[in-house]
Amino acid sequence: MPAAEKVKADFIIHNLASAVVFPEPYRGKGTIPGWRTEELKNASIAARDGVIVWVGPSASLSDEVQIAATARFFNGCGLTAVPGFVDSHTHLVYAGDRSDEFEMRVQGRPYLDILAAGGGILRTTEAIRNMPEELIFVETLERVEQIMQTGVTTVEIKTGYGLDLESELKMLRVIDRLREESMIRIVPTFMGAHAIPADRRSDPDAFVDEICNVWIPEVARQELAIFNDVFTESKAFSVEQSRRILKAGIENGLRAKIHADEVNVLGGVDLAVEIGAVSADHLLMTCAEGIAKLKDSGVIPTVLPGTSTYLMESHHAPARKMIDAGLPLAIASDHNPGSCQFLGATIIQSLAMLQLRLSASEALIAGTLHAAHALSLGDKIGAIEPGRRMDLALFAGDSFRQIGYQAGSSRVEALVAGGVVAIDRV
Ligand SMILES: [Zn+2]
Repeated sequence: MPAAEKVKADFIIHNLASAVVFPEPYRGKGTIPGWRTEELKNASIAARDGVIVWVGPSASLSDEVQIAATARFFNGCGLTAVPGFVDSHTHLVYAGDRSDEFEMRVQGRPYLDILAAGGGILRTTEAIRNMPEELIFVETLERVEQIMQTGVTTVEIKTGYGLDLESELKMLRVIDRLREESMIRIVPTFMGAHAIPADRRSDPDAFVDEICNVWIPEVARQELAIFNDVFTESKAFSVEQSRRILKAGIENGLRAKIHADEVNVLGGVDLAVEIGAVSADHLLMTCAEGIAKLKDSGVIPTVLPGTSTYLMESHHAPARKMIDAGLPLAIASDHNPGSCQFLGATIIQSLAMLQLRLSASEALIAGTLHAAHALSLGDKIGAIEPGRRMDLALFAGDSFRQIGYQAGSSRVEALVAGGVVAIDRV
């Protein structure tokens, strides 16, 4: 091929044992998700300015790619490349220790006993309010570094343990600093409507008014969040309160996400579809009717198998039914201090297979491309395809099927974020 027709590249990963591509990627509302993966053996991936420009057999590299004289090379010998994982639902910023609660819970102590012992979400709120911002940052950065070891190149992080404006802004500033200082992409979500603080329980509507009229405009003014999330459950926010909160977010430029159907089917899925939420998350109790509503809605159903496992639920979200109905299912970790301490992407891949009965291909696509859609980044990241950011997780071996099989014990040999090698153990 003449040089003029070659694509130009400044970074090449060559000699990979395998690179995993998605031949029929979901391309957003109105398209059908494909669940097939293809393992290209003896593959190379080329990028320019951090964006993938070519992927194919190593033997064709020099024929099809014009390599800049100053290009960087990375030898992928013995490694498999998958798209960097996208953890689209986490509560990674927190403080304090709730291991005693965990122990009480597994021994069958009722939740009211745990609350009486000072446990629950409001305990984390206490810790967040009291801990210096710098220390919260350092502890969270450590968690970010841990999830990078599992192949995560994009992580969404929610607030929601401050529960007053000052402490919510404190959490957002921590997330903002992580955006600047970590090597992976951090997506900030404001979740002031995570729980109703004890001193606001006498008048929850006044608390909702304050979130809508004061907190959300201030968060938007400081440009500290992209998404606005709400916990729609009988013990948290009603559908009507959630609608007001999500609408206030949209009016202020924050896109909507929702915690729905975790404990009861309250109407969170209907609300997500009604207002055009980017994702509806948890969906543990979602039934056939909810699945039908989500179909073709553009709302990404996001299932969190770590949480239902950690809470020892006998029932998990109906992920198989969602896939069979043609929904672009995403999976995420929901890492948080109370209901899910599973951290990172590899263990979630395993749990998606063990608990949700997904195939290895389905788990990989749900944890990368579809999770990218759950963050409105579905055309920018989440697959090894020209035009997308070069975010890659490189694991030892010649097949990605080892990831789910190894039950969370696999760690990346290398991590590439935006064409930059962030971890290199090779
Ligand atoms: Zn959550």
